[in-house]
Amino acid sequence: MQNLLSRLNISAVNHGTSTGLKSWSVEGATLLESHSPVDGKLIAKVSVTTHDDYQQVMDLATEAFKTWRNVPAPRRGEIVRQMGEAFRHNKEALGQLVSYEMGKSLQEGLGEVQEIIDICDFAVGLSRQLYGLTMHSERPEHRMYEQYHPLGVVGIISAFNFPVAVWSWNAMIAWVCGDVCVWKPSEKTPLTALACQNIIQDVLQKNEISEGISCLISGDYQVGEWLTSDKRIPLISATGSTRMGKIVGATVASRMGRSLLELGGNNAIIITENADLNIAIPAVVFGAVGTAGQRCTSTRRLIIHESIYETVKERLVKAYGQLRIGNPLDETNHVGPLIDHKAVIAYVSAAHEVKEEGGKMLVEEEILAGKGFESGCYVKPCIGEVEPNFKIVKHETFAPILYMMKYKTVEEAIKIQNNVPQGLSSSIFTLNMREAEQFLSVNGSDCGIANVNIGTSGAEIGGAFGGEKETGGGRESGSDAWKAYMRRQTNTINYGKQLPLAQGIKFDF
Ligand code: NAD
Repeated sequence: MQNLLSRLNISAVNHGTSTGLKSWSVEGATLLESHSPVDGKLIAKVSVTTHDDYQQVMDLATEAFKTWRNVPAPRRGEIVRQMGEAFRHNKEALGQLVSYEMGKSLQEGLGEVQEIIDICDFAVGLSRQLYGLTMHSERPEHRMYEQYHPLGVVGIISAFNFPVAVWSWNAMIAWVCGDVCVWKPSEKTPLTALACQNIIQDVLQKNEISEGISCLISGDYQVGEWLTSDKRIPLISATGSTRMGKIVGATVASRMGRSLLELGGNNAIIITENADLNIAIPAVVFGAVGTAGQRCTSTRRLIIHESIYETVKERLVKAYGQLRIGNPLDETNHVGPLIDHKAVIAYVSAAHEVKEEGGKMLVEEEILAGKGFESGCYVKPCIGEVEPNFKIVKHETFAPILYMMKYKTVEEAIKIQNNVPQGLSSSIFTLNMREAEQFLSVNGSDCGIANVNIGTSGAEIGGAFGGEKETGGGRESGSDAWKAYMRRQTNTINYGKQLPLAQGIKFDF
């Protein structure tokens, strides 16, 4: 581990405030401890940003924006291309740290770094495609078009479960758009954030980029609140729980700022009587237990046609019996730990609530103890048999708990799927074209993501990612999500000798 940390320039005690080029002193600072859920050990400490540090960071970011916005977009893309190369070079080390600090499997840790690389590639192409439209003016000898300008300082608040990818989805796009970024990562995963900042430092230095393009601040929600209430920040992109998003959204709206919210999900898979169970069952198991149920797109609800309910139940219980739970750095394990003890308590109480509401646990909940489970964060993925209207079923519990329920008609299944406050990801397994199209139609799924014959989790960066209702409505990453990071301006130019007014209005004097 020591070797890995030194490859990423992480020491026992680290600065949690930096602008990529400059780091703040850690002397006398309050320290944030990062413990690994894998083995419970202290990995390293990070200093918490003080209010004074924050003001300095914001001054530098605001100043840097004045220079960066004037760098041509394709040139900004070239800097992001170099960052992508730096991440390629550090993929193995950063992937391992993501896995160790957050607790996801090594393959997923590496996959997260690959997402950074992919979004860099995407952003490079995008840097030459920040297109606006031209319109035909209703007035003679007039030209009308729209253009997109950089927005300013973008505040990025991220969650623990995708400690680095979510930052890159925002930062790489924001940078090619001409913005500068101030990132507050989750207080549960401060080291992976620091490692990212260290990885891009060389690129910033070599290219003599103004200090303040990439800023890192560290701490809990209180540090986050400095960002959300700061009038100098036109856009806050916040990823995390719906509880957090409601507070952040209200604060940013009260100062007329923009927010891009990526919040909790309560994702369902519908399995119809026309499904190919050989692909449906693995999709459900991966979606429900992968990352120990700690993906925003994890499968939490399973809505099964009554005619195949018993078969699906039997196959799932059998599959759950074969799951190997343990150290996520060991590639033979399927399920790693939850992030902390608080998450373990939430898991246990959700399973109890299923029983209190009249449901039954088909695969019982259990906290694992003994050798290899010393951190106290390992739990057994469990399955509850429920009614769709149970209160607990409408709530996102960030743990590997799968709720199974029955339906009779596809209309009823879609109604159950939609009848929760969240609207992130959804999917249907069917080989029947009518069922699939109904699910994707205006009367179908109300989620931001709706899939056919693939599960709810795992999205590609090329599409816009996000969800409706209490998931917050934001869209990040691919497609035209970049527009959130720019301000749109409509321009009309009169190249004639008359001044015709719009709507034919006459104003003679
Ligand atoms: P969380 O809400 O506890 O924390 C997320 C971030 O918000 C942290 O950096 C935290 O410090 C900050 N924060 C909390 N309260 C704040 C406040 N009042 N003001 C400013 N900042 C504040 O979430 P978590 O436990 O880290 O992550 C899990 C949650 O994130 C789940 O609900 C999951 O579904 C969601 N998530 C959503 C997406 C998505 O794209 N929709 C992606 C990943 C995670």
